[in-house]
Amino acid sequence: MSTVPSLRLYNTLTRTKADFRPIDPAQVRMYVCGPTVYDYAHIGNARPIIVFDVLYRLLRHIYGVGRVKYVRNITDVDDKINERAAERGISIRQLTEQTNAIFQSDVTALGALPPDVQPRATEHIAEMITIIEKLIAGGHAYVADGHALFSVPSMADYGRLSRRPLDEMIAGARVDVAPYKKGDMDFVLWKPSKDEEPGWESPWGRGRPGWHIECSAMSWKHLGETFDIHGGGIDLVFPHHENEIAQSRCAFDHPVMANVWMHNGFLQVEGEKMSKSLGNFVTINELLETENFGGRKWPGQVLRLSMLRTHYRQPIDWTVRSLNEAEATLDDWAALAKGVKPGTPSEAFIEALADDLNTSLALTELHRLARAGEANTLAASLQVLGIDLEAYQPRTQHLAAELDEELIAARIRERIEARKNKEWKRSDEIRDELVAMGLQLMDGKDPATGEMVTTWEIKR
Ligand code: AMP
Ligand code: ZN
Repeated sequence: MSTVPSLRLYNTLTRTKADFRPIDPAQVRMYVCGPTVYDYAHIGNARPIIVFDVLYRLLRHIYGVGRVKYVRNITDVDDKINERAAERGISIRQLTEQTNAIFQSDVTALGALPPDVQPRATEHIAEMITIIEKLIAGGHAYVADGHALFSVPSMADYGRLSRRPLDEMIAGARVDVAPYKKGDMDFVLWKPSKDEEPGWESPWGRGRPGWHIECSAMSWKHLGETFDIHGGGIDLVFPHHENEIAQSRCAFDHPVMANVWMHNGFLQVEGEKMSKSLGNFVTINELLETENFGGRKWPGQVLRLSMLRTHYRQPIDWTVRSLNEAEATLDDWAALAKGVKPGTPSEAFIEALADDLNTSLALTELHRLARAGEANTLAASLQVLGIDLEAYQPRTQHLAAELDEELIAARIRERIEARKNKEWKRSDEIRDELVAMGLQLMDGKDPATGEMVTTWEIKR
């Protein structure tokens, strides 16, 4: 460690960017909300994984590898899990084990380091019960009809993170009307389970936790009552993070739960959030393992770089074009750095990252290094972004192994046919499809017959 750059982070709690001061520089503590393991994760879910992995690597670079503790949980108790297991006719445990195994292999392929701890909600029921008991004892929660509920009016500054107008929060909370609620905004900490539902014994009868209490319990167990950084996607600000804060602060009587709250923006498709419910999603797994998208498999490193081109708080409109561009860049860099030993990362690059993870500026510096032929600095800098050029397989190698030449020839014949029939839209669609597969088409004429001929090559 030569010079320690001063790290500045944008904090959703204060809506400002400020110097980061860890509570204990010998152990910087970060918690990120992890997946609910009931189905494949989509590439929108990959965004917080990648963003907070880069932050984790940067913190390790600045403070030292053994001095950062990163906790990302696994939510393995949730009503969506129960429903999906029933639909598939498998046990809850089978479903959560299978889904978690896929998630782990997906995020490894994206180049994410394993967090220091990946706690499971079902292994922290005792901590959840302890927190709920503290809340009840302190007058912040009550029991009604087998449920334990957080009493929102008991917390004077509830809502500081999301800063939503009160009427909007009430309207949001009313979606979930229940006769046992004393206040409109009160939320569930614990709910009763029917015999066929998963449940644990508690002072309030057999039941299961609400979602928010899980993260309060796991962060407390592994990081303490207060810690440095809490992260997740922007959709978690309200109600999830607001309610985590309410629970943890009121249970442990602290003015903060985490000092810095960080949120990534959405990955979007045609201006809309990618989500399971809208059905506009691409799973990480199908991008890596199938040819459903753009007619080919994509390396995880390409997805990672394409996401890092945009600052983490901005929305990303996700396209195959951005994958193609990221891949072309990686190919150039890999060719440049072939056989080169990584040196030390560039200072300008680290400074850009230290300015609230300005990855787009950091990439500008990497392009400069590449132009200047500084291959060992480039390779070392990329390692801080989680990209290992040595392990990267360039497109031509990767694609040549994947392409189905017969299919391409058939599509080219169809396109020529379409053009003969003046079906221009159809012919453009076929061309776009082939381009998305990474091909470049060259149209010409057969000198003998005058007929149109199209040849192709892998685009570089
Ligand atoms: P979920 O499974 O919906 O709880 O999401 C898991 C994580 O992915 C959370 O941090 C979400 O905020 C995040 N997330 C979900 N959808 C998107 C998206 N389209 N873009 C970016 N982050 C997302
Ligand atoms: Zn959480």
